[in-house]
Amino acid sequence: MNATEATNYFFSKAARLLDLDSRVEQQIKAPFREIKVECTIPCDDGRLSTYTGFRVQHDNSRGPFKGGIRYHPEVNPDEVNALASLMTWKTAVVNVPFGGAKGGVNCDPRTLSPCELQRLTRVFTEKIHDIIGPNTDIPAPDMGTNAQTMAWIMDEYSKFHGYHPGVVTGKPLELYGSEGRDAATGRGLLYGAECLFAEAGKSVGDFTYAIQGFGNVGSWAARLFSEAGGKIVAVSDVTGAIRNREGLDIPALAEYAARTRGVVGFPLAEAFPPEELLAEECDVLIPAALGGVLTQDTARDVRAKYVLEAANHPTLPLADAVFAERGIIVLPDIYANAGGVTVSYFEWVQNVQQYTWDEERVNSELKRRMAAAFGDLSACAKHYGCDLRTGAFVLAITRVARATALRGL
Ligand code: NAD
Repeated sequence: MNATEATNYFFSKAARLLDLDSRVEQQIKAPFREIKVECTIPCDDGRLSTYTGFRVQHDNSRGPFKGGIRYHPEVNPDEVNALASLMTWKTAVVNVPFGGAKGGVNCDPRTLSPCELQRLTRVFTEKIHDIIGPNTDIPAPDMGTNAQTMAWIMDEYSKFHGYHPGVVTGKPLELYGSEGRDAATGRGLLYGAECLFAEAGKSVGDFTYAIQGFGNVGSWAARLFSEAGGKIVAVSDVTGAIRNREGLDIPALAEYAARTRGVVGFPLAEAFPPEELLAEECDVLIPAALGGVLTQDTARDVRAKYVLEAANHPTLPLADAVFAERGIIVLPDIYANAGGVTVSYFEWVQNVQQYTWDEERVNSELKRRMAAAFGDLSACAKHYGCDLRTGAFVLAITRVARATALRGL
């Protein structure tokens, strides 16, 4: 099952529970627009290289399209389509006034120099500048992109359209970014987990954690969960996996990984095969890297009681069924990692108002919105007698369908 089929499977399961009008379903399931562009750049050695880029705009009934831009060798139309659709449901779950989109360039950013990355970003922006904008479609960072990438996009966009800092979010603080945006996805995950654990009378400090991925989301999650008393016992990234049953020293690991560009070789831990990370002994598993990693087979080996989906679509439908059968509770991606888009919304609001918030305000508003969204999705799950993922889709589809119907068929 490919990524789009998996996303549509979860959509359809919730749509059936809702008895969704087939005319509305037809309107909100398929993407609004899919763009493919070829980006040719001169490399540092004088050769020309061409990279394929995509932007998929899924739905804008609730507000401008919104979604990240990914630089990764596995970027393809199926993946980008699925991620764009997930953004529609995610913005609806946390009730921010945006729709859903996603973009990406098929490249390996680790093999490109900073100059090549800048050229690629500028050419990609030049090719899509007429379909993005602060009131139409607002990109943000995702895997392989960061605040610097957003600064280049904003600058290139300004050459065509003038001063519009709200065209992208996740920008550097010195260039109209928001306090708290860098940590937002990891922090939102922490706030979501607090709500989930509170239902069982537990707190973050009661559990051990294994995290797949130590980039923006994984490293911030590690830092914040460990500051809240959680014990991080295993971490992996593209370079390998490490564990320490007594708990990893996360500030030291973050410093080491930033310096060496990976977690492998960290002296205060033991190395182990990265494919075993998902089956590591822990209470809580946090996939924070690629999609589709939890399959029917890998789900059977998971030893955690909870899966917090920091990554987008890490769990395939058959794996979800295994988790349900085994009583493993999944906090679904369209809620669990929505802290990023929520603070992106705050950044966009600050750009529009030309007024900056301090970090305390950002974090407290994020906490309030994550708690409200958890209350809403958990109420849906209880009302329909379903799991949290289906409850989140029910909530999201209800909001998007209502906006679509009000606009008129
Ligand atoms: P990133 O590029 O900063 O980090 C990705 C991490 O995954 C790196 O540590 C990399 O080494 C690791 N990785 C890559 N391939 C791996 C593999 N095969 N096994 C183990 N680790 C591997 O990306 P990010 O922004 O942290 O995004 C991670 C996930 O979170 C993605 O699924 C992304 O869509 C999702 N997400 C990100 C944000 C955000 O604000 N950045 C928001 C919502 C969701």
